[in-house]
Amino acid sequence: MEVPFVDFSKQYQEIKNEIEPGLKKIFEAGNFILGKEEKDFENEFASFCESKYAVGVNSGTDALYLALASLGIKEGDEVILPPFTFIATALCVSYCRAKPVFVDIEPDTYNLDPKKLRQAITPKTKAIIVVHIYGQSAQMDEIIKIAKEHHIKVIEDAAQAHGARYKGKKIGSLGDVACFSFYPTKSLGAFGDGGMIVTSNEQIYKNSLMLRDYGREGRYEHKIKGHNSRLDTVQAVILSAKLRRLDSWNLLRAKAADVYRRQLGQVKGVVIPAVKSDRTHIYQTYAVRLKNRDKVLDVMKEKKIGVLIHYPIPVHLQEAYQELGHKKGDFPVSEEISAEILSLPMFPHITEEQLTAVSDALKAVL
Ligand SMILES: *Cc1c(COP(=O)(O)O)cnc(C)c1O
Repeated sequence: MEVPFVDFSKQYQEIKNEIEPGLKKIFEAGNFILGKEEKDFENEFASFCESKYAVGVNSGTDALYLALASLGIKEGDEVILPPFTFIATALCVSYCRAKPVFVDIEPDTYNLDPKKLRQAITPKTKAIIVVHIYGQSAQMDEIIKIAKEHHIKVIEDAAQAHGARYKGKKIGSLGDVACFSFYPTKSLGAFGDGGMIVTSNEQIYKNSLMLRDYGREGRYEHKIKGHNSRLDTVQAVILSAKLRRLDSWNLLRAKAADVYRRQLGQVKGVVIPAVKSDRTHIYQTYAVRLKNRDKVLDVMKEKKIGVLIHYPIPVHLQEAYQELGHKKGDFPVSEEISAEILSLPMFPHITEEQLTAVSDALKAVL
């Protein structure tokens, strides 16, 4: 049995009839940029995140960049982040001409390790970007406590964690500002690129609004050198329909993860995701640790089981960041996880049959 890495065709069937009239309305009215539906979706998403404000932008990468810019991050500043993430978490720091400073991750959740945070803070540190990797929150209480002691801002890279909770609170409401991606394969995915900045801080909100729209105040009066980064009205209509179903889709992901846990939890040589009791995991990605990962990867591909590596090279060892002068061994946990991690097929409508086919194929290789 072939199993794709993701298959969102059933999602489309569910929302098809609902989005068609909404899209038709936009095509006829022509309000493609910052139309009413876009504003409506911002409000819906802010309340979904239990936050005050949301600002729709072009992508998750732009959400991170403009969030940092709205905090005034600039040349000479340092921003802390984990090296075990998608490169966009670091790129946004570079776009601001600030310096990315890495802090290694915890070996069980793969999130930024608060125990290693203090030693990385210098007088230049202005912000910490916390990545809720794969859909489970980092230890936010510890991280926010340390940040407050040093008057440092906390940015949530929530690109993989739409709808997850930490100690009952929604991801997106924990830091000073949170950034979401609506890239098609994220748990809330557009039919193209999109992103969102979420905050309860009025100043960050106002700055973000201006930064995403040419720095304008009136139509042709520009207060700052802003950017062009807005969420399309068309995408907002699609995302709004999907948002109404997100909690139930996240539950389906959790059920699929339960099946994997039953089938793989006791298998020698497989480490399944560790879920902490004070938070929920939305399984944007279902990643297992394997000692012989590369061999498993090849065999799974031969068997037409969709698997991917998130992420094979930690950011500090990427060629794009060689200027920082890092070497192998600098962040050993991130390096070890990068060498052992494998993402298995995961999407809300994955069937028990498909899950079993994946588990059986994996067990056969081991
Ligand atoms: C996807 C992702 C991003 C970037 O989002 P885009 O919408 O693709 O620009 C940033 N950080 C993390 C952790 C991501 O997974």
